[in-house]
Amino acid sequence: MPTRKPFVGGNWKMNLNRAEARALAQSVASALANGPAVEAAVFPPFPYLSDVGEVLGKVPGNAVKLGAQDFYHQPNGAFTGEVSLAMLKDLGVQVVLVGHSERRHVIGECDVLINTKVRAALDAGLEVILCVGEKLEQRELGQTDAINAAQMVYGLAGVKPEQMSRVTIAYEPVWAIGTGKNATPADAQSAHRRLRETLIHGLFGQAVGEAVRIQYGGSVKAANAKELFTQPDIDGGLIGGASLKAEEFAAIVKAAAK
Ligand code: PEP
Repeated sequence: MPTRKPFVGGNWKMNLNRAEARALAQSVASALANGPAVEAAVFPPFPYLSDVGEVLGKVPGNAVKLGAQDFYHQPNGAFTGEVSLAMLKDLGVQVVLVGHSERRHVIGECDVLINTKVRAALDAGLEVILCVGEKLEQRELGQTDAINAAQMVYGLAGVKPEQMSRVTIAYEPVWAIGTGKNATPADAQSAHRRLRETLIHGLFGQAVGEAVRIQYGGSVKAANAKELFTQPDIDGGLIGGASLKAEEFAAIVKAAAK
């Protein structure tokens, strides 16, 4: 079985001002400099990407990647308010989020757009975190695995096996995001295993499916990170609220070290 390097992302969402974003980037990068053996990324709001990239670049031994929360898939043109992948790459962005539940359920992005974005980002040479997850009513109807599989299969349509080393899946039950509730480690592990089985048996075969990292997201904190991350198919996390505090986020990243 391949060893998967754990990956923890900090999604800052629409929070912080410029000075706070710079300070948080500085503290996170300093706390994680020269290790641990975990990949880490932060996803600041668009207006602060340049500042955060600059700050990260100045921390000796920086190990934190620069990520973007969103983008538009077209290369350029009359798309008022949108930001292209080339613009993000210009700022040093290495990884992008696609299909986050807030973009699916608050902004209204559909599976077709999400798939278009996944393919555009991969074709542009970036890494992608594709988020999937069920709503509470779907969970109560026993649809968790079906929703997860459908969102992942749609999202990855047309993605080539050789591109999958740049894809991470984030399982984020919608009812757990920002609510203080999280899936039990056993429930999360079960959902992750089912996703991996779909990757293996439905999409890409054993070698690729075993190598893809699957993050857990939904109210992860330093206090509950370890018990989630020690599950065999949980390869780190996507962190919202707790990523806004440098010490807390650094502790979560460290908890993901195998
Ligand atoms: C998220 O936004 O991806 C997330 C998991 O948020 P929180 O950690 O705040 O639940």
